Amino acid sequence: VDSYRGRDTWIEIDVKAIASNVKAVKTLHHPDVHIMAVVKADGYGHGAVTVARTAIEAGAEWVGVALLEEAVELREAGIEAPILVLGPINPQDASVAQRYRISITVFQSGWLTEAGSYLEPEPPLHVHLKCDTGMGRIGLTDGQTLLDMIKILKADKRFEMTGIFTHLATADEWESDYLSRQLTAFQSYVQLAKETAGHIPYVHYSNSAASLRYPGNDYNMIRFGISMYGLVPAIETATDIPVSLKPAMSLHSRLTHVKKVQPKTSISYGATYIASEEEWIGTVPIGYGDGWLRANATNGGEVLVEGERCPMIGRICMDQMMIRLPAEVPIGTKVTLIGKQKREEISIEEVSERLSTITYEIPCTLNGRIPRMYT
Ligand code: PLP
Repeated sequence: VDSYRGRDTWIEIDVKAIASNVKAVKTLHHPDVHIMAVVKADGYGHGAVTVARTAIEAGAEWVGVALLEEAVELREAGIEAPILVLGPINPQDASVAQRYRISITVFQSGWLTEAGSYLEPEPPLHVHLKCDTGMGRIGLTDGQTLLDMIKILKADKRFEMTGIFTHLATADEWESDYLSRQLTAFQSYVQLAKETAGHIPYVHYSNSAASLRYPGNDYNMIRFGISMYGLVPAIETATDIPVSLKPAMSLHSRLTHVKKVQPKTSISYGATYIASEEEWIGTVPIGYGDGWLRANATNGGEVLVEGERCPMIGRICMDQMMIRLPAEVPIGTKVTLIGKQKREEISIEEVSERLSTITYEIPCTLNGRIPRMYT
């Protein structure tokens, strides 16, 4: 089965770009600052295992995921680096984390008590305490809970507290008062934790936006996600990114059909597109079943053919869509939906604006039906 592909539609991942982005963020920080490569959601759609390996080789020491099963997948693939599950896990699964030497995030004293009945005597389960300083998602929200948790952790040798962290809600925006308030709140939690627990090996709060826009504020670890893939956290503040990021993902296909249509010929479901003159129309084997959403065809969405921009026309189907070509081109001609051709480029930023969303959503939405090729 490895020797055939049902169609020519593929994603290319430029691993050198990922390495370059990791090295670029490293230049902004003190050498003692550790980099955690965030590879949740299958490496933001880029392939968690390959991205993790690439990032580690480029200087990242930690790997971050959202789910315990994502961490286990990395361990089973042979990734030996420390891994932190950034999201909550079930207390019943605490021994899985122990067995695979996976660090976990906790923020409720009740969780620790419950997990206690599932833990093996060893090895110690490494725990990072999560403080909610304004994200409002997960995390403890008062000092007493922090103290209660540290008490449980200190009393039970099966736990080892190795980190404390928070997550920022607005680091990608121009307005910075909210971020300052989060930082102040986090500083108080860190101080309280250190007074009670002593030295804490890892203290971290920066995501991509903070690590690029406010380097120097970052305690001793940054959690580097979206910009490791070469994407800006927000288009509004893109001009504030001090390094050149290299996008890792591009998306390509090949024309399966090319035809000349007469004026008034309609194209695709609903017959909503009607040719206004004699036109060359190409069919591209990608659709919303791949995560190439129907809204891509609206708002003047374009793809590249022979280095020229061509509009997507009519409704995008589940597996196919149509484009208007400037002239006849051979069947099999390459179509670039994201990436460069000659002097033209369609960036993920452009696609995200077209879909009125954030850069993060584009690579995550392109699903596993599209094979990833690593270059
Ligand atoms: N830390 C946590 C807790 C996260 O949820 C995420 C991703 O959303 C990150 C770090 C990485 O953020 P970014 O992709 O903006 O760098």
